[in-house]
Amino acid sequence: MLIRNAGILAGPELDYVPRADVQVRDGVFAQVAPHIKPDPGEEQRDCSGLLMIPGFINAHTHIGDSIAKDAAMSRPADDSIHPVYGAKQKILKNTHPGSLAEFMHATCRLMVSKGITTFVDFREGGADGVLLLREALKGVPIRAVILGRLEYYMQADSDAPLPERQEAELELLLKGCDGLGISGANENGRAVLERYSQTAKLISIHAAESEQSMAASVLKTGKSEVSRALAAKPHFLIHMTHASGADMQAASQTRGIVVCPRANASLAEGIPDIEAMWRAGCNVALGTDNVMINSPDMFREMDFAWKVTMGMNKRPVSPREILKMATVNGGRILGKKTGMIAPGMDADYVLLDRHALELEPVHSPHAAIVHRATESAIRAVIIGGETAHGKI
Ligand SMILES: [Zn+2]
Repeated sequence: MLIRNAGILAGPELDYVPRADVQVRDGVFAQVAPHIKPDPGEEQRDCSGLLMIPGFINAHTHIGDSIAKDAAMSRPADDSIHPVYGAKQKILKNTHPGSLAEFMHATCRLMVSKGITTFVDFREGGADGVLLLREALKGVPIRAVILGRLEYYMQADSDAPLPERQEAELELLLKGCDGLGISGANENGRAVLERYSQTAKLISIHAAESEQSMAASVLKTGKSEVSRALAAKPHFLIHMTHASGADMQAASQTRGIVVCPRANASLAEGIPDIEAMWRAGCNVALGTDNVMINSPDMFREMDFAWKVTMGMNKRPVSPREILKMATVNGGRILGKKTGMIAPGMDADYVLLDRHALELEPVHSPHAAIVHRATESAIRAVIIGGETAHGKI
């Protein structure tokens, strides 16, 4: 397939190319150039007037609570989403799995319609939870990175190893998913976190989400929550909203941090300091977190992240850096060939209509996408070279 005459945000820096051709072969970008000669019989589409951008990577979600939208707002975070006693757990336990899957399926479809081509889900409920998400994904072409979890929690100061039964469960769990999404260092002891560090798949963990979780770690163990989370040797950390400078320095040795500014704000927990993370040398990606407390919309997430960061620090931030958080940086965190338009990368992209009422005239493509575009400007969403939504 040859896409012709599109405006493109190309490569790892999302450089704006006003007009170029893009060739896709076997679901992968083959060439990006000013003019590409089509192969004999190759399908071609004239995309004049369209802006081609990488598909969004929603790098942190919990879509399992899609049935509980806004069911526990205005409550402290732990009352709402704590993995053991939060309102979320009660709702999920008392709902038929078929209904949970139905609403997860709807969220997956919604995400595709909003230009999200990959999402990274912290899936609760052990191996059964993973199976339920796989069921929900049927018929939706979105790429899902599923990070499963053992429903096994303990005191943070315990040194007990993972019991035999959970060892067996862990093996089964990891067979069915892409890695571990650990709830946090406060629900796991040192020996268990170290055990998790030995898994061969992706590892991620919540850290420094709230002032309470930071204080609880020091109170129970005398150590910072982030330093203990790092015992699991995570590829990336989630939140870091209340992380210290030293914590961020330590996090810069991982693939990065996924921040969820709107979710943190809607739980009245604070705002992650994205600028401080950049200064510490961290790769920062963006996620929308629980569907229960926030909409899975990367346009809204980028808009909020951009303005709140400038408002907090009283300094301008490049919208290009915010757009990278929703695309390139997420791909880097996953270690996958997605998140940018460049030869050899998966052909996951979104075509935006630059003549859409909300965008025209487009003077700055990066700014227009970060704080003006909505899904109504989307002409088509393509995943692995196949049209997943809309029409080219
Ligand atoms: Zn989370």
